[in-house]
Formats: sequence, structure tokens, C-alpha cells
Amino acid sequence: MSEPLLKVTGLTAWYGRIQALYGLDFEVPEKGVVTLLGANGAGKTTTLRALCGMIQTGGDILLGGQPIGGMATEDIVRLGIAHVPEGRGTFTAMTVEENLQLGAMTRGDTRAIAEDIDRTYAYFPRLAERRSQQAGTLSGGEQQMLAISRALMLRPRLMLLDEPSFGLAPLIVEELFSILSDLKDKEGLAMLIVEQNAALALEIAEDAYLIETGRLVMSGPAQQIGSDENVRRAYLGY
Ligand code: ATP
Repeated sequence: MSEPLLKVTGLTAWYGRIQALYGLDFEVPEKGVVTLLGANGAGKTTTLRALCGMIQTGGDILLGGQPIGGMATEDIVRLGIAHVPEGRGTFTAMTVEENLQLGAMTRGDTRAIAEDIDRTYAYFPRLAERRSQQAGTLSGGEQQMLAISRALMLRPRLMLLDEPSFGLAPLIVEELFSILSDLKDKEGLAMLIVEQNAALALEIAEDAYLIETGRLVMSGPAQQIGSDENVRRAYLGY
């Protein structure tokens, strides 16, 4: 087996003196899609923040074999991890295109940046139509698409998505996940997805991990996790 893109061993995390994660082990394969499931407050968002160096962590985090635990967020971004936080965080007073240009800020290759903007528009035609529109005037779904597009401008090796479906209408969620699926198939983009909508996440992911109060309680192929009776009752509602 080839080395995973992301290998996390014994991950712990703290908010000040309060411990939020208690030794998580998980992996994201190259070009793989993995989902983290769990109830509110289980530690999913915290796990993504820990991977980005946004909070104090312990344990080992290896990206392509390189230890990144304890590094500054901007260095982690440069190494190829792009984070799409819950709540999206686009620059509302800037246009769609300016947001995308800003996403490529760590890169100097101007021509490739212009090509990547076009490639991003090909995945998100709604944004192409709205390229000169202020981000703050976009719908919730379009803002989520912009946040993902901006992250793509980093040409990440791994994209971390926190609740991409949050607050969006079902049809928009369907559109969004179909684009994510395309990115996975056509670009081989590796993703770690945190989702309340477990059914959706299990559909796109190959592997799933279930977290409860900061601890890993189950892991395996997404299909297997999705057919577990307890998971079905607690997270899939049937
Ligand atoms: P949700 O879906 O509600 O966002 P989650 O699984 O993402 O849930 P986290 O946000 O990671 O959960 O929270 C994990 C634990 O860490 C919770 O007990 C939460 O109260 C705590 N926590 C989160 N953020 C902070 C913070 N800034 N300061 C202190 N404790 C925090």
C-alpha cells in the first residue's frame, strides 16, 4: 500500500486548558475522500482546526510523510492544505473574481493563476456568470461555492471542508455535492469532509470515521459505516 497523503496518529487538541480531542488516529489516502461524522460538539470542527495549526495540538500529523504538527497555519497552507471553514468566510465587499485572485495570494505564477480561475469557473458556472458581483450579494449556495473555489486556487493537495451543506436548500446541496464529486473524479482532489448530513457524506466518501466527545468510536469503508445499525439510527434517521 502506498503512503497515505495525510496520516494522523494520537491527535489531541486543547482550547486553553480544556481538552477537546483525545488521541485520534485517521488517514486520508492520495486522491481519497474521507468523512468525519459525529453529533454536535463531538470535535469535528476542532479536528479540522487542529490539522490547520489553528489550535494547540499533540500527536503526529504527517502530510505526505512530512510532520506538520505545531507548524503555523500559513506554512501548512503553503504545504497544500486548504480549509473551507463553516460559515464560509468570503470577502463580502470584494467581487467573485477578486476573491479568487486573493485565494492564489501565496502563488506567484500569474499566468497559471488566470488559467486556474477559468478552470474553477468551468466547475462552478454560476460563479462565472457572477464574476463581477460582490461576494456579499451572492446566495448562500453561491457563497459556499466561492469559498470552495477560493480554496481550489491554492491548488491544494488536501481540502478540508467543514459542513459544506450547512443552511443550503436541498437542490443546491445536490448541485454542490455533484461538483465536489466531479472534483474528486476529474482532479483527483483529496478531501476530508465534516458533515451533519451523514447520508450525503457517506455517498461521496470512501472511508468514514465516527467521533464522539473527542474520541474515535468507529472507522471503516463508508459503505460499511453507513450500514451499521447504530449509525443508521443515530445519524441517518432510519
Ligand atoms: P458542531 O457540529 O456543533 O460544530 P463539532 O463536532 O464540530 O460540532 P467542535 O466545534 O469541534 O464540535 O467542538 C468540540 C468541543 O470543543 C465542544 O465541547 C466545544 O464546546 C469545544 N469548543 C469548541 N470551540 C471552542 C472554543 N473556542 N473554546 C473552548 N471550547 C471550544
